[in-house]
Amino acid sequence: MSRVAGILASRQLNGQFSRRLLPLLALFLLYFPLALISGLCHETGHGVVSLITGGTFTGIIMSGRQMEMLGAVRSPIVSIGGWLGQYAIAVVVILISRKYTPKSFAGRSIDLLLVLINLIEPPAYAASLQGDSQGVISSLTGYVGLAASIAIIETVAVASLLTGIYISLRFSYAYFSVVFPWMSRKRTNLTSYLFVAIYTTLVLFGYMGGSIGFNLSSNLVGSMLVFLALLLLFGFVLIPRLALGYPMKKNIVSIGAFSVIGIISIFVLLVYVLASYMPITIIF
Ligand SMILES: [Zn+2]
Repeated sequence: MSRVAGILASRQLNGQFSRRLLPLLALFLLYFPLALISGLCHETGHGVVSLITGGTFTGIIMSGRQMEMLGAVRSPIVSIGGWLGQYAIAVVVILISRKYTPKSFAGRSIDLLLVLINLIEPPAYAASLQGDSQGVISSLTGYVGLAASIAIIETVAVASLLTGIYISLRFSYAYFSVVFPWMSRKRTNLTSYLFVAIYTTLVLFGYMGGSIGFNLSSNLVGSMLVFLALLLLFGFVLIPRLALGYPMKKNIVSIGAFSVIGIISIFVLLVYVLASYMPITIIF
């Protein structure tokens, strides 16, 4: 191999890594801190509804991936507050992104993940008929009976899930078309469909398995393996190789941004591990 060919090959290899794998890795790592923020919003939602209905809200306790609000609950309607809290962030992100499209990679990734997590998880949780969902059923049963309560919850859950999937697909198409601009329109479509479909399936299976909370991270080793498999699927199969001669000048995710994302994610993972041995309490 001549010297020039060698330089071209190494630049090409570097491009494959920095343009295909690095953005995906950063996106997946960002899931952990954003799932934590979404969990805090969920509990704050319970807390705010508790305060409105005459109860108290004194803090949040975190044991492993499970979170719970602390305070005196006066009304069963508090069960619904968690989902309202999550929908509130999704709506804020959707409204902001209509006016102002983030220019940075991190901003785009945060938008996509906050919409995805907070539009897909609440209906999956509601459909599970456990935890908060059970709370809503028991408060509805007094008015319409058990069978109708379950029918209402499942109908609302399916309608919300379909809406959530539709909006998430639009966000992920916009994301993949900007982050991997050399993909064809068809391939971008396929990639975003699979991205939303795989996430939705994982969340639905997580709730069907009986675990309440944020499922991908409730089992750390398991979620790491899932992330690795998805990274390989998206990075090596779905996102096509960069064409030879594709402009390499600007990488979408800088090394600086990647390092910050990596450090924050490792910190959040350590917090989860710590909280599974020793519950962490946040008192207001
Ligand atoms: Zn809840």
